[in-house]
Amino acid sequence: SRQFTRPLNDLANQFNMILSAVAGADRVFQIVDEAIETKDEENADAIQELQGKIEFRSVYFSYEDEQPTLKNITFHAAPGETVALVGPTGAGKTTIISLLSRFYETNEGEILIDGKNIKTITRDSLRKQMGVVLQDSTLFHTTIRGNLRYGRLDASDEEVELAAKAANAHSFISRLPDGYDTVLDADGKGISHGQRQLLSIARALLADPSLLILDEATSSIDTVTEIKINEALSKLMKGRTSFVIAHRLHTIRTADLILVLQEGKIIEKGGHRELLENEGFYADLVKTQRNDSLNTG
Ligand code: ADP
Repeated sequence: SRQFTRPLNDLANQFNMILSAVAGADRVFQIVDEAIETKDEENADAIQELQGKIEFRSVYFSYEDEQPTLKNITFHAAPGETVALVGPTGAGKTTIISLLSRFYETNEGEILIDGKNIKTITRDSLRKQMGVVLQDSTLFHTTIRGNLRYGRLDASDEEVELAAKAANAHSFISRLPDGYDTVLDADGKGISHGQRQLLSIARALLADPSLLILDEATSSIDTVTEIKINEALSKLMKGRTSFVIAHRLHTIRTADLILVLQEGKIIEKGGHRELLENEGFYADLVKTQRNDSLNTG
């Protein structure tokens, strides 16, 4: 099920667009303006650097006036921790990410980032500190080098290559006839799904964000590539607060905090062991999991 990838794609596109807007593409500014949903408060501060401490305090949110989509969401993550969001499609995982990215405002409760109410932080400065890696990350019709540079526009060729190496992407790039100058299609024709993910990890490494959003792939990827991806991801996640919409037990069990969501509520939270001992929904999920992939979202 991939229903939730659309809002996340919008999110990722915006990060990329904001970056290209920095380069002065006026047309892109228009798109960004249209897509942005929340306004900055008059006295909002631009943050320069985030520690990455995140706290949700009794957050309620609804898209329309009907039933709230999120109810009483409370949790906190220390800088550098990994939070796994688990639960069926429609449970509210993406909505939590959307609030954290200030696409919407909470109806009740507060979101604090490094102890500051998120509403007092300018949206752009917040998003500059965030990196997004999706199962279908956006590629642009330009060279691989150009695609990676969307992570950081002033990166040197050497820095681009270092990031690609760290992301285990360098070897496949080097095997392409034009290497880093290979021109990609926007739909990624000519490179595999897994390679596309490695590129988006390299891009995120270049961007060096304090806060990471990961939408873990559900599609099957060959084992060798999967090992490469896992390795690259752990490098990327190290030292950054990460939110993972997680499908793989491997990722979930190593998270510092697992939030099990159902119908907009956190029904269980804690570490893997703790949740197994609870013998609740999570323990059942783990018991019934097949092929190391949880049947969620
Ligand atoms: P998940 O990521 O866990 O699949 P979502 O956060 O995408 O869940 O969705 C939670 C609920 O909010 C679902 O019932 C979904 O239909 C609804 N929803 C999501 N996005 C919107 C939107 N833009 N407008 C109205 N309802 C939405």
